[in-house]
Amino acid sequence: MNASVEKVTPYDQFNLPIPEDHFPEQGMSARAAAALVISEEWTDTNPMLNMSSFVTTYAEPEAMETAHRNIFKNYIDHDMYPHLFAMETRMVKWLHQLWNGPKDVEPYGTATVGSSEACMLAGLAHKWNWRTRRQSEGKDATRPNMVTGGNVQIVWKKFLRYFDVEPRIVPLKPGNYRLTAEDLDQYVDENTIAVVAIAGQTFTGEDDDIQGIHDWLDAYEKKTGHSIPMHIDGASGGFVNPFLYPDYKWDFRLPRVQSINASGHKYGLTPPGLGWVIFRERKVFNEELVFYVNYLGGEMPTATLNFSRNGFQIAVQYYQFLRLGFDGYKRVMQHTLDNAIALRKILVDSGYFTIMNETQRIPVVAVTLDSKITKFNEFDVSNKVREKGWVLSAYSMPPNAEAVKSLRVVVRPHINRNVAQILGNDIIGACRFLETHGGNATPPKLHAHATEKSSPAKC
Ligand SMILES: *Cc1c(COP(=O)(O)O)cnc(C)c1O
Repeated sequence: MNASVEKVTPYDQFNLPIPEDHFPEQGMSARAAAALVISEEWTDTNPMLNMSSFVTTYAEPEAMETAHRNIFKNYIDHDMYPHLFAMETRMVKWLHQLWNGPKDVEPYGTATVGSSEACMLAGLAHKWNWRTRRQSEGKDATRPNMVTGGNVQIVWKKFLRYFDVEPRIVPLKPGNYRLTAEDLDQYVDENTIAVVAIAGQTFTGEDDDIQGIHDWLDAYEKKTGHSIPMHIDGASGGFVNPFLYPDYKWDFRLPRVQSINASGHKYGLTPPGLGWVIFRERKVFNEELVFYVNYLGGEMPTATLNFSRNGFQIAVQYYQFLRLGFDGYKRVMQHTLDNAIALRKILVDSGYFTIMNETQRIPVVAVTLDSKITKFNEFDVSNKVREKGWVLSAYSMPPNAEAVKSLRVVVRPHINRNVAQILGNDIIGACRFLETHGGNATPPKLHAHATEKSSPAKC
């Protein structure tokens, strides 16, 4: 054996340089490559401690095995993986029923990469439906607009810009962080393709005033003859409301609600890469948006923005629905909410914080420092608890509530009461330290682009 080869130990291999600006010329051993990748992962946040994200970070071993078994299945290839497609189709019906869709219709919907793709598809359907209707009435169909609150997630601003729909964004104000019917008369008109209302918003976790908006649109139709549909962005609330608040009408029970999206990878409890969009009935998803592609021996409809994508999330979502059932989701969401309420109480009782979301639906705790605290701000608290490993979002609210800064904790199912207590203590410990030593964090400058300055990308 060549002596020089023997002398190359793993220590030498792990120390190989990584090229910055050219493609690696020669390969290396599997162990060396893995060691290099792992060493770059070390200082990334531990996903479990990422309290700023809604996205699932825990799954049972059986769910992980399901993911591994399915990881090489291309979702779009229905011909090769008809049973993965059958799982998706069945889950579309389940969600349509869970969200109280009418019984006598053909449910329609699809799995997507996340709520973003789901929102885009819903937005497109409403744009197409609006245009078809306007054209059939011989009216101008060139100036579509969409009405949302200033609390919308960035995806809606993307949709509006990418698909050329005029943004009509109702600003927030200090003390009110949700879309209500109050100012709608200044925003809604005959060119409004839909009003988007959120169930479980990213900033404070609250729901928009869905019923109030619905009633306002009913009155508007009576007055003007313009019937305007609603889309519900239930990215988070879609997997909380049905289980915890069965009597609360946020969904297809309201006739104007024509489409709903939710993130399977948030409270749907699937690893990242899954969203859902469900339509009230088949005809809401405009047929012109459906493509029929030739697969081996057959025609397959496709109506997603992506073509190839990983299919494992669908199998895992199916596992979770079967594993937990309605009863299991209800229990998981209840304990998660209880832990959020416990954390909220610890923070409010400390005297440092005021709660921002009076109505607590999804398990999000959004607080702002009490106005008497001047020596440090929410960004200082976020930086300080980072020393303990926690990642907490601090942010300035969107216009016209920019003066309000917020600290947000997204409580997810893996946070048990014990961990909520430790986190609460660490946050209060950080406040005590900052009270003595002062803070110096300045809120990050927001992007200056006119339509985007209100959009920190909250997930
Ligand atoms: C997370 C979120 C989105 C975007 O969803 P992804 O699943 O991250 O693509 C849209 N709207 C709301 C309200 C969200 O919370």
